[in-house]
Amino acid sequence: KTLAAGLEKTRGGFMARLNALFAGGKVVDDSVLADLEEVLFTADIGVKTATRLLESAREKVRRKELSDPERLKAALREEIARILDLAGTGGAAAPLAVGEARPWVVMVVGVNGSGKTTTVGKLAAKLQGAGHKVLLGAGDTFRAAAGEQLEVWAERVSAPVVRGKEGADPAAVCFEAVQRGAQEGVDVVLCDTAGRLHTKMPLMEELKKVQRVIGKAAAGAPHEVLLVLDATNGQNAIAQARQFHEALGVTGIALTKLDGTAKGGVIIGICDELRIPVRYVGVGERVADLKPFSPREFVEALFE
Ligand code: GDP
Repeated sequence: KTLAAGLEKTRGGFMARLNALFAGGKVVDDSVLADLEEVLFTADIGVKTATRLLESAREKVRRKELSDPERLKAALREEIARILDLAGTGGAAAPLAVGEARPWVVMVVGVNGSGKTTTVGKLAAKLQGAGHKVLLGAGDTFRAAAGEQLEVWAERVSAPVVRGKEGADPAAVCFEAVQRGAQEGVDVVLCDTAGRLHTKMPLMEELKKVQRVIGKAAAGAPHEVLLVLDATNGQNAIAQARQFHEALGVTGIALTKLDGTAKGGVIIGICDELRIPVRYVGVGERVADLKPFSPREFVEALFE
């Protein structure tokens, strides 16, 4: 599936309403702006971002810079493209970059069901395909199936996997994974983590501990904290991202299940509010359905 295909539902929702607003060659007046307000505030992009986009459009209309809907649409498109270009690549994708350190350690976090384990598997396949030697750490010890799922992926890409017993300490599993990665000359260690816990310890505290312990196994690690978010959660995904970011300092986002939702506008809110680059989007269940996220492609798919 392509990104454009994955965005079909979003296009049918938010974008179809925007396009209807811009069709017909009406002059942009207060009634068009009121309609724009309604569309933006129900587009899952978050209140802050919707407000900002609307204010900017109002201001341009007031200054008589725009009066025809086509120009309003172009201005909106430009502004959204600017919001998304956090990596400063001018709209090109900024997927996970494997730096100099060995092993390069990626800690993958997210709540249960977000698609974390699947994303780790897809990412392992991608990295192996690019010639990197990968090791997987099965740090989601809460969900017994998560370890098995990861083992299936590991087999598929012939990567080693470090797995603790069910209920084992996730930090200990990740520590061992990073250590083994170093001993075995691995390029990238991908650490899956729990999205829910057996203990009473709050999830964020546990994840902070995992992060600290990974740092003890290799100085400077984890080099990337990749947060997996489920796009079908819409604005709740933004709230979730904020929580994870405050606790861990998230450095990249993978947004899954874009294919199953009309709430793809959430990407705009995530980038605008959190200033964390979206590295990948999930548009299906196959390996090839984890796509490096290109802001340019996204904007083109939405506005064309
Ligand atoms: P975890 O609990 O966060 O580890 O979640 P899993 O990796 O087990 O994924 C939960 C479900 O979401 C599984 O059925 C996955 O196949 C599915 N899934 C993950 N990513 C995507 C995606 O991009 N698109 C679709 N349609 N399904 C996905």
